[in-house]
This record gives sequence, structure tokens and C-alpha cells, in this order.
Amino acid sequence: MKEDSVDDLMKETRALLCVECGKCASACPMTEIFEDFSYEASPRGIVEKALFGFDVLTDVGIWFCLTCEVCTQLCPAGVRFRDFVQGVRALAIEEGVTEHGLFCERCGQFIVPMHTVNYIRGKLNGGEVPDGYLCMCPRCRQYDFTAKMRALSPGRSRVKL
Ligand code: SF4
Ligand code: SF4
Repeated sequence: MKEDSVDDLMKETRALLCVECGKCASACPMTEIFEDFSYEASPRGIVEKALFGFDVLTDVGIWFCLTCEVCTQLCPAGVRFRDFVQGVRALAIEEGVTEHGLFCERCGQFIVPMHTVNYIRGKLNGGEVPDGYLCMCPRCRQYDFTAKMRALSPGRSRVKL
């Protein structure tokens, strides 16, 4: 989905129709996961800021969402927050806001927010995630894995007639 602006995204994802009921924020798993989570980064908070015309592209709160879609399933107004926040992130990246994301070193595609990466690191013993899991997007990692397997057994890819 290529959008021209946050306003377009708000129409497309029904964020304009938010009735500010707060169901999304109360059900969001981020409340349990992130110690630094606050209303500012909640789906309701982000939608509210967009409705009031704040610059959400530079808002660090857009990089918290785990894109699980729980909020979308519960929203009485049909707001598709996951799609909204993914679109806003794409626009932010287009505008050069890249410090909050992890990008594939091979194709350059956005992989996951650094906020999520740092949370995972914090949960792992030693705090390190194996490089192979974080330097490439899933598609490039699969390509890389296939290439390595072929290199290990070069004859197996040939079909005998
Ligand atoms: S659940 Fe939907 S209507 Fe309610 S605050 Fe969240 S986005 Fe708005
Ligand atoms: S999609 Fe994002 S904002 Fe919505 S419930 Fe999941 S983590 Fe929370």
C-alpha cells in the first residue's frame, strides 16, 4: 500500500473514525511487555495525535507497536491500527527517519523496530542475538541459507537424466 500522506492513511485505515473509546489501549500487549510503554505510544495515543495534526512521522511512539492486530479486532469503529502504523513507519522511513528501525544489510528493507530488537536483547542471556537473525530480512536470509546449502553440496541441485 503506497500512501501519499498521513491523511490518506487515516482515511484508508479508518483512523479518522476513532471514537477514542480506549479498547485498543487496554487490550494491547505492549502494556505487559515494554517497561517504558505509556499512553503516548498506545494505539489510541498515536491515533489521537494524528487526529489533532501532530507530526507522527517523527514520533518515537510509532516504533513500539508489535503489529499483532489485537486492537484492530476489538475496535468498534473498524480502525485498522496495525495498517496505519505500518504505513506511517513507511512514510517516516521515506522522510529519512531511519534511526528507529533495523534494515536488511542486503536489500535495505525495513525488518523490525529497534525498540523490539532491544527488548529481545534484554531478554536473552548475554544480551546478544545471533547476527544471522538480525542482519538480513527473512527473504534474504532464506536466499543466503539456500546459497550456503548449495555450496556445501554442489552436485545435488543437478537433475540426472
Ligand atoms: S479501539 Fe478503535 S475507536 Fe477505540 S480508541 Fe482504539 S482506535 Fe479508537
Ligand atoms: S497491533 Fe500494535 S497497537 Fe495494536 S494491539 Fe498489537 S501491539 Fe498493540
